[in-house]
Amino acid sequence: MERREFIKRISLVAFGACAVPAAGSQLLASSDETANTTHLVRSGDTLSHISRRYGVSVASIRRANGLNGDLIRVGQRLIIPGAGTSSFLDPVKSRIDISNFNAERWKNIIGHHSATGNGNAEIFDRFHRRHRNMPNGLGYHFIIGNGTNSGDGEIEVGDRWTRQIQGGHVSSLAYNNNSIGICLVGNFENTRPTGNQIAAFTQLVRHLKDTKLKGNCRFLVHREIETTLCPGRHFPLQQMQQLFA
Ligand SMILES: [Zn+2]
Repeated sequence: MERREFIKRISLVAFGACAVPAAGSQLLASSDETANTTHLVRSGDTLSHISRRYGVSVASIRRANGLNGDLIRVGQRLIIPGAGTSSFLDPVKSRIDISNFNAERWKNIIGHHSATGNGNAEIFDRFHRRHRNMPNGLGYHFIIGNGTNSGDGEIEVGDRWTRQIQGGHVSSLAYNNNSIGICLVGNFENTRPTGNQIAAFTQLVRHLKDTKLKGNCRFLVHREIETTLCPGRHFPLQQMQQLFA
């Protein structure tokens, strides 16, 4: 490792975001069966765009619709196999739609990766308390699992969301004060987020941005505001920016 890179990593650890230790035991997660949904093709849609949006492979969409190539028509209704539109959101929706929700507070939604191969809300919470000296614990408002220590695509609601308090997911106090932090478990410098994680992330961001905040917030990822690799080069940044522009 280059010395400069080493120093950069050390300083990121000190900043208190996006670097947590590898956890011990790996719990097996079961993935829920989800119902099919359909997608009405609009101008500009491509199979790969639709695939990203629902977290379902292009091959699965082709198979479910008897398509041979990439040709789709505006107005066509495609079956999206195994992607209920809110399948990842539904189990936690009542814990997201809380009565003390503070719409005035949140101006940004910031995406992160954990920079670790595994983890869950409890593991990151413990780490933030013990090693980052963060009395409010888990710095993110939401965690989206990758099937290691929580389900693949499982959304965990953090205590900071329940209490509607500032995040601890970036270095900037200003951004922590007005930004919702969502962390996908994984190191996306090395691996790709799972299809379920992207589907869950899409559902969560859309719900927060469009439904809860009526569009009055920006979608960002960590490296757009601070010097960091987070959320990693394999995070589908362009697609997410298009979705949440
Ligand atoms: Zn980050």
